[in-house]
Amino acid sequence: MSAQDIAVLVEIQQGEIAPITFELLGGARELAQSTGGEVLAIVLGQEAESYAAKLNVADRILLAEDPLLTNFIPNPYVQILEQVVLAEQPKAIMLGSTSIGIDLATLLSSKLNAPLVQGVVKASATDTGFAITSQLYSGKILADVEVNAPTSVLLTLPGNFHATETAGKASVEKVEVATPLDTAGITFEEMILPEAGDVDITQQDVLIAVGRGIQQEDNLEMAEELAQALNGAICASRPIVDQGWLPATRQVGKSGMTVQPKCYLALGISGAPEHQEGMKNANLIIAINSDENAPIFNIAHYGVVTDLFDVAPVLQEKMLEKKGVA
Ligand SMILES: Cc1cc2nc3c(=O)[nH]c(=O)nc-3n(C[C@H](O)[C@H](O)[C@H](O)COP(=O)(O)OP(=O)(O)OC[C@H]3O[C@@H](n4cnc5c(N)ncnc54)[C@H](O)[C@@H]3O)c2cc1C
Repeated sequence: MSAQDIAVLVEIQQGEIAPITFELLGGARELAQSTGGEVLAIVLGQEAESYAAKLNVADRILLAEDPLLTNFIPNPYVQILEQVVLAEQPKAIMLGSTSIGIDLATLLSSKLNAPLVQGVVKASATDTGFAITSQLYSGKILADVEVNAPTSVLLTLPGNFHATETAGKASVEKVEVATPLDTAGITFEEMILPEAGDVDITQQDVLIAVGRGIQQEDNLEMAEELAQALNGAICASRPIVDQGWLPATRQVGKSGMTVQPKCYLALGISGAPEHQEGMKNANLIIAINSDENAPIFNIAHYGVVTDLFDVAPVLQEKMLEKKGVA
């Protein structure tokens, strides 16, 4: 336990650790390196121990087990988090900006009388707290704020921190549930899952993104073939989804998905702010657009000013040649 530690709530969805958790652990590691503290992973659930092996990037894995923690109910979760934070006194507790995280963060901050920063996209530790960049109004405003408190609650947006593979000390400890858990009259009834999408674009390493420049639905086949050659998947800007050419599960941006692939190849996408919001943190952005003034070039690492129909087939051919298929 140290006032320099950074704690992370491990989010479990359908028996799996949610990807946001690994981003948070990566962010926590960066912060802990500058504070000199440790990274704590807090796991809540009936069989919390079963997740410990996947959390070896943390220094300490704190497990709280109770039947009332099996499914998410805000009150028991907050009770345990409050107990852990009071015992451990970390410099920050990071939660993902997800339905669960948003539910918990405000409750936790009021219980602890600790500052809460929402929409965290960047954070660095200061002597007395944190300097944080917070994204407001769907990315239209970035606010730089400072919090000065022994513990801060950081509600962190997906796609802004990178998962780490550096192993931590990974010691596993059980947390004794100090007081009987109280559900505050809420019972878990049923988990209703969204309709399954065909491909989870948030989990792809390579995305071929098509925009209005693709011109007609038939041309998607060319993008799909290119995606296959690159072992990736296709996604799109909103107009493509609005026209019904691809399902909503493939839309990237403000009203779609936030993605962070290793490579994002944008074909005929202008790069409107609402689109950038969902992809600007891709590791490598390559844009092909016939308009040299397209805003996508402001964030692309590589840009090609040309007709996408000249480049995409050649790229596919070269990739297939490289794979020894053509
Ligand atoms: C509340 C709100 C939410 C929104 N949410 C989203 C969202 O989640 N995702 C999203 O994407 N948008 C969203 N939008 C829409 C957004 O503002 C843009 O309208 C949209 O992103 C534009 O899509 P686009 O780049 O495909 O089309 P356009 O802006 O029309 O750009 C097409 C581009 O293709 C290029 N081009 C044309 N032909 C060729 C060719 N042959 N070769 C190469 N380049 C070519 C053009 O130069 C142009 O730059 C939202 C808007 C609002 C108001």
